[in-house]
Amino acid sequence: MASLTFDHIKKTYGAQSAAVKDFHLDVKDEELLVLVGPSGCGKSTTLRMIAGLESISEGKLYIDGDAVNDLPPKDRDIAMVFQNYALYPHMTVFDNMAFGLKLRKLPKKEIAERVRTAADILEIGHLLKRKPKALSGGQRQRVALGRSIVREPKVFLMDEPLSNLDAKLRVTMRAEISKLHQRLKATIVYVTHDQTEAMTMGDRIVVMNEGDIQQAASPHEIYHYPANLFVAGFIGSPSMNFIKGAIEEGHGQWYFAGSSVRLPIPKEKAAVLVQKGYSGKEMIAGLRPEHLTLAGQSEHPPEAVCRAVAEVCENLGAEMYVHAVSGDDRMTIRLDGASQVKPGDAILLAVNMNRAVFFDVDTENAVY
Ligand code: ADP
Repeated sequence: MASLTFDHIKKTYGAQSAAVKDFHLDVKDEELLVLVGPSGCGKSTTLRMIAGLESISEGKLYIDGDAVNDLPPKDRDIAMVFQNYALYPHMTVFDNMAFGLKLRKLPKKEIAERVRTAADILEIGHLLKRKPKALSGGQRQRVALGRSIVREPKVFLMDEPLSNLDAKLRVTMRAEISKLHQRLKATIVYVTHDQTEAMTMGDRIVVMNEGDIQQAASPHEIYHYPANLFVAGFIGSPSMNFIKGAIEEGHGQWYFAGSSVRLPIPKEKAAVLVQKGYSGKEMIAGLRPEHLTLAGQSEHPPEAVCRAVAEVCENLGAEMYVHAVSGDDRMTIRLDGASQVKPGDAILLAVNMNRAVFFDVDTENAVY
């Protein structure tokens, strides 16, 4: 397996603005790195530059310390798995998996061994004699994975490999690829637009937008400490709520004062905001749907509360998403599925201000 180094890589197509602007990152040996972002943000272009299918306009790409900018795809020792698995319809599963190895003229015995091992890992040993048309979507995707595993490449590149599968199968295959990663100890770069895939599979996530890396960090850090408004809004479903307000002081306590809320800010957070010059300034507070809960009817309501009116209640069984309005603000609240909230209900919400993230209005960067 191998490490990858992107040294300020840029890709421009003709006179267009750059598809990838300044990609600078190390991928560690055995790491599963997920590139995630909206359509057109430059994920596939980045992957295709690693594969050698696109030229690199500026910067250097290293695989295991060797510059590969000018190395043709076939010499890069990389295997790619696509959304469209493109199996040869007239060949058996065995032949599909063996095809690349036969081209490389490996001895028959070794080919058979490698196919057998990969088929065992993917639990498709009983399907080796079948043709692709006699396979389910999930089985075909396993064959496509198998075809890349038998090559024992330095790096696996996966471009939305699960997008063609139905929702349930996607969840299963997601776990399968994670298992595969652990078993092969492979370096994998995985592209997806699906933030759930990114969160569940990645050792590290690179969130991209408009050709730029917005943040590269662990799933935990990306979710709990997003670098900016874009990352905060893109990762997490339902999305983080954003409320505008001002940082104000009253009687020795700092508050976040919005159109309909006055929320006390925990001491340590307030100290950071004040120290960084935000006292009296407008900011955006980000609150995840699970950081708002029903305050109940307790005699001692929590300090940080928000009054809202429920507009739409989506019950998913295990949980309920309540879309509510509070003054000028709209917010989504994640409640237990057994909650009794109905559209039109006035609700009192307890706000977990310890988890609030504050963003600069101009730079849109989070302030920690
Ligand atoms: P993603 O994979 O994140 O959806 P892409 O990497 O495919 O995004 O595309 C990034 C940008 O580069 C887009 O604006 C896209 O239109 C442009 N682009 C991609 N491939 C080409 C190409 N072959 N020629 C011109 N522009 C391209």
